[in-house]
Amino acid sequence: MGDERSVSGSGSGSNCETLDAVTRQEEDEEQQQQQQQQHQKEQQQLSIICGYSQHMQPLAADGGAGGAAKSSQLLSRADWGARMPKEVNYFDGPAPYVIIHHSYIPAACSTTPDCMLSMRQMQDFHQVDRGWNDIGYSFGIGGDGLIYTGRGFNVVGAHAPKYNDKSVGIVLIGDWRTELPPTIMLRAAQDLIAFGVAQGYIDPSYKLLGHRQVRDTECPGGRLYQEISTWPHFTQLNKTVEVQPVANKV
Ligand SMILES: [Zn+2]
Repeated sequence: MGDERSVSGSGSGSNCETLDAVTRQEEDEEQQQQQQQQHQKEQQQLSIICGYSQHMQPLAADGGAGGAAKSSQLLSRADWGARMPKEVNYFDGPAPYVIIHHSYIPAACSTTPDCMLSMRQMQDFHQVDRGWNDIGYSFGIGGDGLIYTGRGFNVVGAHAPKYNDKSVGIVLIGDWRTELPPTIMLRAAQDLIAFGVAQGYIDPSYKLLGHRQVRDTECPGGRLYQEISTWPHFTQLNKTVEVQPVANKV
């Protein structure tokens, strides 16, 4: 579950299908140049985002999730029928944090069509009902074991206040308060993190957090939180609570 403070206006109008087909309003030359540069940057970034669809090597072999030695698959936004983002804002990588969420709603999905529907439902909720730019998360993990590109790497998310411009937000679709997500999902999440590190999107010394560590929420659910607290790079954040030494008290 996420957050997005500012609601932006109309976006750049780019999506995976129209990478080269974006037209610009008529502006004066200087503005046009600036916009062209911005536009080129957007195109570059979007081509990265849209180019994610691929099989990944089983990088998380040591990650403890076990299971068959099968690579996880990363699906693009187009694969699940995402709408265009209203606006895309980037931050410089690599991201120093990875933050794990559960969706709570929608519930766990087991087939790819259902998981794709869940992604669209989350996008609807965030983009339409809440008025955010896009689905809040960077990536979704389905019960089918597939990884779904949300906002993608190095795109400012809307999933954890103060961390949105420095983290990868991964939602494991389902309610994981008492149940542990299936191994195939845990493995996919670990593969995604390893992929992000290998590709330079995630800092090799990243800190892994559960959403509840940065906001008052039960997300990512008690059972899932317990699980990720055993994963490499899990970091206990020390709350900076000032405790007066006993000796100073009368
Ligand atoms: Zn959350």
